[in-house]
Amino acid sequence: DVVLSGGIDFNALLLSQPVLDGLAASGFKKPSPIQLKAIPLGRCGLDLIVQAKSGTGKTCVFSAIALDSLVMENTTTQVLVLAPTREIAVQIHSVVMAIGSAMEGLQCHVFIGGTPVSQDKISLKKCHIAVGSPGRIKQLIELGLLVTASIRLFVLDEADKLLEEGSFQDQINWIFSSLPVNKQMLALSATYPESLAQHLAHYMREPTFVRLNPSDPGLIGLKQYYKLVRSHAMPHKVFEEKVLLLLELFSKVPFNQALVFSNLHTRAQHLADILSSKGLPAVCISGSLSQDQRMEAMSKLKQYQCRVLISTDLTSRGIDAEKVNLVINLDVPQDWETYMHRIGRAGRFGTHGLAVTYCCHGEEENKMMAIAQKCNLILCALPDPIEPGLM
Ligand code: ADP
Ligand code: MG
Repeated sequence: DVVLSGGIDFNALLLSQPVLDGLAASGFKKPSPIQLKAIPLGRCGLDLIVQAKSGTGKTCVFSAIALDSLVMENTTTQVLVLAPTREIAVQIHSVVMAIGSAMEGLQCHVFIGGTPVSQDKISLKKCHIAVGSPGRIKQLIELGLLVTASIRLFVLDEADKLLEEGSFQDQINWIFSSLPVNKQMLALSATYPESLAQHLAHYMREPTFVRLNPSDPGLIGLKQYYKLVRSHAMPHKVFEEKVLLLLELFSKVPFNQALVFSNLHTRAQHLADILSSKGLPAVCISGSLSQDQRMEAMSKLKQYQCRVLISTDLTSRGIDAEKVNLVINLDVPQDWETYMHRIGRAGRFGTHGLAVTYCCHGEEENKMMAIAQKCNLILCALPDPIEPGLM
């Protein structure tokens, strides 16, 4: 089921032998289409804007380019990667370490808020690749702990999120201006809104765009449905109704693991409690939890100790849960980009999955139809009754 690039393997991308060995050891046999396109261009030192859907393998694109560029003897920081959330930063670190597993002495460290700076100071004594959140990275540069003089590659992962209105723009501008002028830059993103184009124009002079053919069937294995719910003046009544429908769905389709998105984090925890009380191990990651609690929930999902992870959009991006084959939108997401990010969590890498969005008659329904139109989705009403064969 995996969508990979025909007969071409990583050897054809002229990566150095240790990187090739690391890729093989991580179980990556053949490059994905975006890797095939972007890695050779990145290795040539070009500034890239890589736009491809969630789950197409963008982490490996910049990790391979970064690892390939390292001068191992020099233990000062040569690559700086910014990520919008702690979870994503931690995941990037593990991909870099996996692909770099054949590079002896490789030092890659994560720098995020909520952990003591004293620990960062120790890590920074030897750090080829620094991965972190904009806030903490800026702080470490300001404190003189992260020395930028040797940085030759600057990566913005989930650039759309990083440069979104009201997010990290100021911090990233500041970080950018503290870096050497001569460097390569990579921006990776699932979407490419006009505002992102404008921001990136300040950083890169003549970037090369790398994107897949839009007709590329990235989410082909994912069936998408909506389910109409009676609207009600009392929001909690609507919630109760949706929960009942959700329980029915869970009892009827043979899903592996599910992600449930709620627009409200207060509901997320409530729903986790309800599901757990019905015998479905569920955990919740919402922005109101501490970093440790969020990490713990993520690892429970990864280690298969829970079957349902409930999230808000704040925490949704970059969740990479390969066994997830059911995505539920308890509410219709804000906009089409959010919808695509959410459902991109299932059916990653071409596996089969199911996405169901619950929407109330009226406003929510209209919003869902607008999203479907914008994304050219084939969206069907959820069959009633639900057959197990749906999955
Ligand atoms: P993106 O950043 O584009 O959303 P990720 O980098 O998180 O995607 O990759 C999605 C999933 O695909 C991960 O589980 C990753 O391990 C897997 N993957 C990436 N590249 C390959 C490859 N070449 N072969 C097999 N699996 C891959
Ligand atoms: Mg990614």
